[in-house]
Amino acid sequence: MEIVRYPHPALRWKSRPVAEINARLRSIVREMFELMYDAKGIGLAANQVALPFRLFIVNPSGDPKQTDQELVIVNPAIISRKGSAEGEEGCLSLPEMWGQVRRAEEIEVEAYDLKGREFRLKLKDMPARVVQHETDHLDGVLFPDRMTDTARLELAPQLEEFEAIHRRRQEAGLLPPDDVLKARLRELEGS
Ligand code: ZN
Repeated sequence: MEIVRYPHPALRWKSRPVAEINARLRSIVREMFELMYDAKGIGLAANQVALPFRLFIVNPSGDPKQTDQELVIVNPAIISRKGSAEGEEGCLSLPEMWGQVRRAEEIEVEAYDLKGREFRLKLKDMPARVVQHETDHLDGVLFPDRMTDTARLELAPQLEEFEAIHRRRQEAGLLPPDDVLKARLRELEGS
């Protein structure tokens, strides 16, 4: 398992809900936490490790010792949004890139935990932003998509560079072609 980078097709995948919470899923989640902490992130969606499952993990502290801050969010639905705030975002799948994104200030999210229990959570400020960013991943939406056209234009050279790297890795045989990557996602969806 590894964190994939834009424009890997998994990042544009609209994932289906998780049908069963089992040992395999729990081990995936453990591995995702390790990857996220190694990459110094505070959130990681299954899409970002090329898994088409509707789940993500969060630790707003980014500190692996603060396990009480860890959240596993399966099949989330944002059921209410209040206010609006602009803030800076980055993404482990778009390394070294940051942009201003407008999001709801407060949200209420309904989801399942790793024991299959349904829960509701009210969040505001940074944790609310992270959950909105990660929920977007599950629909194949990336933070530059949420930026204004003018602000996104400034990121265009960096996005083109990511695309060029992706193509070069494919040409060098280090990464399978997009159609093979998509076929894998479809296969995993059925598993
Ligand atoms: Zn992200």
